[in-house]
Amino acid sequence: MTDCIFCKIIKGEIPTTFLYQDDQIVAFRDIYPKAKVHVLVIPRQHIKSLAETNASHSQLLSHLLLALPKIAQAEGLNNGFRTIINTGVGGGQEIDHLHAHILGG
Ligand code: 5GP
Ligand code: ZN
Repeated sequence: MTDCIFCKIIKGEIPTTFLYQDDQIVAFRDIYPKAKVHVLVIPRQHIKSLAETNASHSQLLSHLLLALPKIAQAEGLNNGFRTIINTGVGGGQEIDHLHAHILGG
């Protein structure tokens, strides 16, 4: 997806500091933070939204979800955090590359 802004971030075409990265996911700060801590966690694989996922993505989705509390805690959110996954136009999704928001602080 050459025109996907999050794919460009993953490829290093848009300089971005990764708070966490591994072979499946990366995490970075939202450019327009809506809370003191606002992190986006995305799969390296271009998946348009949660609505495009199926059983073949089970391991990846599990991996992403399990990473969220670790990333949140590393950001100092020891009292808890909010997770948002907007899906599709009706869900307010603006960037068509699956991502989970971590908000807190
Ligand atoms: P959505 O509404 O699709 O769930 O959220 C997309 C989020 O991506 C928004 O909170 C927006 O601020 C963020 N965003 C959009 N473009 C960029 C960018 O180039 N870099 C970063 N770090 N965040 C972005
Ligand atoms: Zn993408």
